[in-house]
Amino acid sequence: SAQIEELEFQAETRQLLELMIHSVYSEKDIFLRELISNASDALDKLRLEAFRDKDLQVDTSDLHIQIDVDKDARTLTIRDNGIGMSRDEVVDLIGTLAKSGTADLRRKLAEAKEAAAPEELIGQFGIGFYSSFMVADKVTLLTRKAGESTATQWESSGEGTYTIQAVEDAPQGTSITLHLKEEDKEDHLYDYTQPWKLKQIVKRYSDFIGFPIRMEVPPKPVAEGEEEPVTRQVEFETINSMKALWTRPRSDVSDEEYKEFYKHVSHAWDEPLEIIPMKAEGTFEYQALLFIPSQAPFDLFMREHARGVQLYVKRVFIMDNCEELMPEYLRFVKGVVDAQDLSLNVSREILQQDRQLKLIQRRLVKKVLSTIKDIQANRADEYKTFWSEFGRVLKEGLLSDSDNKETILAVSSFASTASEEDLTTLAGYVERMKDGQEQIYYMTGESRQMIESSPHMEAFKARGLEVLVLTDPVDEMWVGSVTEFEGKKFQSIAKGEVDLDTEEEKKATEVAREQQDKDFAELLTWLTTTLEDNVKAVRLSSRLTDSPACIVGETHDFTPMLEKMYRASGQ
Ligand code: ADP
Ligand code: MG
Repeated sequence: SAQIEELEFQAETRQLLELMIHSVYSEKDIFLRELISNASDALDKLRLEAFRDKDLQVDTSDLHIQIDVDKDARTLTIRDNGIGMSRDEVVDLIGTLAKSGTADLRRKLAEAKEAAAPEELIGQFGIGFYSSFMVADKVTLLTRKAGESTATQWESSGEGTYTIQAVEDAPQGTSITLHLKEEDKEDHLYDYTQPWKLKQIVKRYSDFIGFPIRMEVPPKPVAEGEEEPVTRQVEFETINSMKALWTRPRSDVSDEEYKEFYKHVSHAWDEPLEIIPMKAEGTFEYQALLFIPSQAPFDLFMREHARGVQLYVKRVFIMDNCEELMPEYLRFVKGVVDAQDLSLNVSREILQQDRQLKLIQRRLVKKVLSTIKDIQANRADEYKTFWSEFGRVLKEGLLSDSDNKETILAVSSFASTASEEDLTTLAGYVERMKDGQEQIYYMTGESRQMIESSPHMEAFKARGLEVLVLTDPVDEMWVGSVTEFEGKKFQSIAKGEVDLDTEEEKKATEVAREQQDKDFAELLTWLTTTLEDNVKAVRLSSRLTDSPACIVGETHDFTPMLEKMYRASGQ
């Protein structure tokens, strides 16, 4: 018989499994959602692969998911005839965790030991398969990849190691058998050998899955006096409705259904903050169902972070993370776009040049931004959540999307010297501007504390002028290219000459300044020559009230923080 290899889980995986096995979960049912979701992904992938690669010898005429129960053995099996996995893929995908962000995961795992909600963790790190161990004390996975002849069996009790074994004669696709925990046997809430229970879970979480999910119909009880039939025709029933959610009118779909679909497409476990169904008819038809999440994923700022919109063509899945549909700065938006007029055969290269796709993108962006505007106007709490999770990403659009700059500025919020806790919109700032104030003052820096204690701030404090406190790295970038909001120019208080005086004040100071310049001429000359290598000029200032001196940049100079960023990036 084939050789059995024993391999060790990676450290993070081990930690995570421990959490799965030993924590008490209230919502164990979701393991089935995760496995069905994976099966559905695998079927999507096979359909697409078969379409692209005509030489691939696979039967795609009956793509489906099947759930089998063995009451006596207390096992539950979820099968699909999808793409399957090669041996290396099994080791890579199942034995190793979330390729990136493992350091982050480790930290969160440590936190989760005390705090609740390890459920959230699981979803956040794309580790749905492991949720099997909430209900099973042993899991057996058998899989054969489309086009390969040898299958792979993977087995583990989740305690540090797993085994891998080559198997001949396995059907193509994947089956996952859960050996259900003995301790759940008596609790009918967690009895996953009951067909009604399984049907209930599928209805709740996976109804919209686009492939049939089948289960065997239990044999009819034999009526009294009747003979037990010798052979019985095994019958299956489909237990999901399979309706693509984005094709159904909004009034027809419950919030629950939308939420479950969101979790399916986003591989996340949070609730969507907003659901955006869209439909366009006419020359270029498409339907879209977009979601704004309520929680940022851990990898939102990592380079390889994937954008979240899937492309379908006439209900057929084409690809994940379709970059051509969402600009980078809206990478947090999840969902699907189903286009009617594209070829099923589209490739990334074609997509990049596709005019119609560009048009769709433009409309999606407008819709998302107007939705955010709506949230801002009507749902203060949700807006706050949105901004704290995604504001930093959205502001990247100020640099890259000049068409929508005004809207992005309008829906943005900023910290300001007007309030310690509350953020302000630019409209709010403009409303509070003093008589005669022409500009929107801001200062960038690493922290609020640093900015507030800067000598630059003194004159503004003394005059009661509000200053925006910009501490996100992206702020450094956009203030360089966005010059005004509603006709009011942005002005850094740390750059150039900021003119704060009224005409009378100016006259008075002019006279005084001439005198001061004479009085301090010697000191200024001495300072200028002494500091020759470090500064361009030394001059008297009316900006300071408490500090004796401060360093000022020229209008077009880099700020200290930007300089640091450039230096750090090796430029
Ligand atoms: P995610 O679905 O978020 O990627 P999972 O832990 O649910 O994370 O699954 C990990 C990976 O294992 C999947 O991305 C997929 O590549 C692979 N996988 C899981 N189940 C199947 C399956 N039934 N068929 C093929 N591949 C699968
Ligand atoms: Mg999954």
